[in-house]
Amino acid sequence: YATLSAVVKPQESAFDGKEAALLVDELRTSFNTGRTRSYEWRISQLQNIAKMIDEQEKSITEALYQDLSKPELEAFLAELSNTKSSCMLAIKELKNWMAPETVKTSVTTFPSSAQIVSEPLGVVLVISAWNFPFLLSVEPVIGAISAGNAVVLKPSEIAPATSSLLAKLFSEYLDETTIRVVQGGVPETTALLDQKWDKIFFTGGARVGRIVMAAAAKKLTPVVLELGGKCPALVDSDVNLQVAARRIITGKWACNNGQACIGSKDVSRIVNSFHFKRLESMMKENGVANKIVHGGQTMEDKLKISPTILVDVPEESSMMQEEIFGPLLPVITVSKIEDGFQVIRSKPKPLAAYLFTDNKVLQNRFVENVSAGGMGINETVLHVTMKDLPFGGVGESGIGAYHGKFSYETFSHKKGVLYRSFDGDSDLRYPPYTPEKKRV
Ligand code: NAD
Repeated sequence: YATLSAVVKPQESAFDGKEAALLVDELRTSFNTGRTRSYEWRISQLQNIAKMIDEQEKSITEALYQDLSKPELEAFLAELSNTKSSCMLAIKELKNWMAPETVKTSVTTFPSSAQIVSEPLGVVLVISAWNFPFLLSVEPVIGAISAGNAVVLKPSEIAPATSSLLAKLFSEYLDETTIRVVQGGVPETTALLDQKWDKIFFTGGARVGRIVMAAAAKKLTPVVLELGGKCPALVDSDVNLQVAARRIITGKWACNNGQACIGSKDVSRIVNSFHFKRLESMMKENGVANKIVHGGQTMEDKLKISPTILVDVPEESSMMQEEIFGPLLPVITVSKIEDGFQVIRSKPKPLAAYLFTDNKVLQNRFVENVSAGGMGINETVLHVTMKDLPFGGVGESGIGAYHGKFSYETFSHKKGVLYRSFDGDSDLRYPPYTPEKKRV
């Protein structure tokens, strides 16, 4: 990947509050000209994103490899092709999404008509995480553009090659007067969060989510928080265990959800030594290390941890209390499946919850009684790829949702509009309310 260093240059100048204010000002001025509102502008930007993905597949794949050792096939399936299909869906459906929706009127307003009209919010900020650094950056931007907003993207500094490539590609392919990338970490994000936005869309952990929400509250800015947490999978005893195990393992490791991924021949490294040490100490904790039934090997110089399964890990351990975000899978045993429902309900609401059973009654009970951002029955993670399903958390796992039309709606304001003519006016509704009027 020698070519990449020529392509990817680190950010040259510091980005502070003054620059952030200038940037937002510039984008707001462009937004106020109305250029982002037209169907034509939205479509042209979406088409350019699709073109960028097609033409830059190699450089994006290389950046993902450089940042995360992401295997090529996984980069293509989980990041490039997934993002492209969201873009193509938006191009196909945009006219329908933008069309005002006519609704019924009431006798009080007769004669009249009424519509729900979508309008762009204005200038929005997208802050993304490192584990799917291309998808988690571009997918919300597709929603922001579809809805006619100006947008600033702040990708994760923990995936620096992808972050700089996004900055370079956005300036080459997209309208620079309304769509921009700011690279950087905490100081740059803090400078951005101090500005007045019309929406902040954040993907990351709950700790930073709280910082984002507190900053947004100062300006009364609405937020979407796409957070994480633990995603439990419950397995009934009489299911096809081989299929259940394969699907859980795939969800955990093969698509980066455990952070590390099993590609065709290799295991990705842990993203950095901070996370390596965090995971290693989780595994070595008292009462946990002796619960390993598979894996457990670590290679600090290569930042690698093998896929590791642990059975009956103590409830009070940090592995059971904190988000793992790594290739460690603790399994706990319950005497009946409903006890598993109770375990999930006793913890913060997860981003996703999974149940493996053929029992339809149990399936219904799970869907009705367990709260989670999303669910998979006899499957893991694949619900995320369905563009007709909203993707987002509930409670501690997040606020708001996106994907497909939900992305468009997330970045739009639904304006209720009542239309009347000057006909049919009546004195009855206007004061003074005389006794004669009351009798009528
Ligand atoms: P993070 O919260 O550490 O960082 C996310 C973003 O916030 C980054 O762009 C980072 O630069 C910025 N940031 C970090 N500290 C900040 C601070 N003090 N002030 C302002 N900005 C700050 O998350 P991460 O490590 O990049 O990603 C991992 C987390 O993201 C996990 O918790 C995971 O569950 C979650 N996640 C959620 C989804 C989802 O779609 N719900 C997807 C991927 C990852």
